[in-house]
Amino acid sequence: MSNPLKNKERMQIPRASMPEQDPGERRQNFNEVALGLAAELAQQEAARCLECKDPTCIDGCPVRIDIKKMCQLVYEGAFLEAAALVREQNVLPAITGRVCPQEDQCEKVCKVGKSPKYRPVAIGFIERFVADFEREGGHINMPERKPSTGKKVAVVGSGPAGLTVAGDLAQLGHDVTIFEALHELGGVLVYGIPEFRLPKAIVKKEIDLLQQIGVEFQTDVVVGRTVTVDELMNGEGYHAVFLATGAGLPRFLGVPGEQLNGIYSANEFLTRVNLMKAYDFPSHDEPIFDCRGKNIAVFGGGNTAMDSVRTSLRLGAANGYLIYRRSEKEMPARIDEIHHAEQEGVKFMVLTNPLEFFGDEKGWLKSVKLQKMELGEPDSSGRRRPVPIEGAVTTIDIDAAVIAIGTGANPIIGQTTPDLKLNRWGYIEVDEATARTSKRGVFAGGDIVTGGATVILAMGAGRVAAKSMHEFLTNGEW
Ligand code: FAD
Ligand code: SF4
Repeated sequence: MSNPLKNKERMQIPRASMPEQDPGERRQNFNEVALGLAAELAQQEAARCLECKDPTCIDGCPVRIDIKKMCQLVYEGAFLEAAALVREQNVLPAITGRVCPQEDQCEKVCKVGKSPKYRPVAIGFIERFVADFEREGGHINMPERKPSTGKKVAVVGSGPAGLTVAGDLAQLGHDVTIFEALHELGGVLVYGIPEFRLPKAIVKKEIDLLQQIGVEFQTDVVVGRTVTVDELMNGEGYHAVFLATGAGLPRFLGVPGEQLNGIYSANEFLTRVNLMKAYDFPSHDEPIFDCRGKNIAVFGGGNTAMDSVRTSLRLGAANGYLIYRRSEKEMPARIDEIHHAEQEGVKFMVLTNPLEFFGDEKGWLKSVKLQKMELGEPDSSGRRRPVPIEGAVTTIDIDAAVIAIGTGANPIIGQTTPDLKLNRWGYIEVDEATARTSKRGVFAGGDIVTGGATVILAMGAGRVAAKSMHEFLTNGEW
């Protein structure tokens, strides 16, 4: 049943709003904020698609989902077909439907949004709808696994890059084992992104599917410590290795007083809450700073900073400050996350930079001295550089601080794999088209190659690597 509406009529349909938990209520719990579209609303949203001859949205998608076809199928009510179509390009659609920055990708180039009068088709909402429909109905059909090739592949790291490679190679009949340093699988999807944005059960379901097609998992294995890459290849007989260890090394501000008690890296703060369920006190008695009634300051302007400050409110903070040295316009966080943080009562202190932390006689954080900034000339990133306003210095009382100003490459594998070439920042050098590293049989992708990026880019890198690894495993050419 094709859509009978003329383009003009399609554009008159208002863009669907995502139903959400009330801000006051959700500040008290860790349940998911966005509740998902009902079927009728998803169909109505799909009806807004103009079915363009030249669907620019597909060029905006890093894994090139056939978005136009997905919209057509959803409009027709063929939800499972739509889900299967998405899965052809994207093995984690319920995850990307929730966390992809669509506003900078497919939706940014959607033709409906070209005129300032109209907003683009809500592609992310539709993707999430089909993935949830498929999962909730228990209808996920994973492609058949091909007969075993007898080739063994080690994947290091269980984030989106590692999971994508594992899924693709297992389907092709290779014996894949994922080695994960932590006790839980999923990488940043579980230890970084909080439950209220991405429920752990959804990630677990995707991992269960990989298990069903024969992927094996070994947790609590730090490659480079427990076992080296060379030992995996020589001693344990792996024919190829994929390195997907992410960029999890915290960066700090480098200002005086940063060693005081009560100052956390975002990585530690979020890991304790997410992975060790510190939020579920007293059922899970994981020690974390007792935020109840306290003032918590989070430094940074990305998704990690938003996640940290919103988490602190859910842990009972009286005030959650988001302190960022540029203006809101330059914040790298997703627009939705900034908006949600504002709705939940986060206090934004933009154009503000920390100068020094002060503590009490027992070494606990008490306050922070802040410098007011203004925007100057653009820097190498194209964004206007923040410069201090002379004399504009204040001090505020805070009880804990979370530093969320970015991360670097984890050095362990580089240090223990001598013939692996790294760039000057410690990230692994690869040939972009093949994901090959400088070491024969070893491939890499995701944040450990690019630096901190996005889930979909990590998955895209996994896709490229899996294709190239399959060729290597099949014909041995390097
Ligand atoms: P990771 O997800 O980092 O996974 C790497 C895995 O390797 C980890 O599990 C780690 O424990 C393991 N590992 C590391 N070293 C070893 C070792 N030596 N041996 C064995 N295992 C090892 N992106 C978005 O698109 N949208 C968002 O909304 C978003 N929000 C984010 C919020 C936060 C708090 C953070 C931190 C990141 C966010 N990102 C977001 C970025 C995104 O999550 C990452 O770009 C993506 O997860 C990178 O995937 P990856 O597979 O390369 O690595
Ligand atoms: Fe539909 Fe927008 Fe893609 Fe055109 S660009 S096919 S309107 S989603």
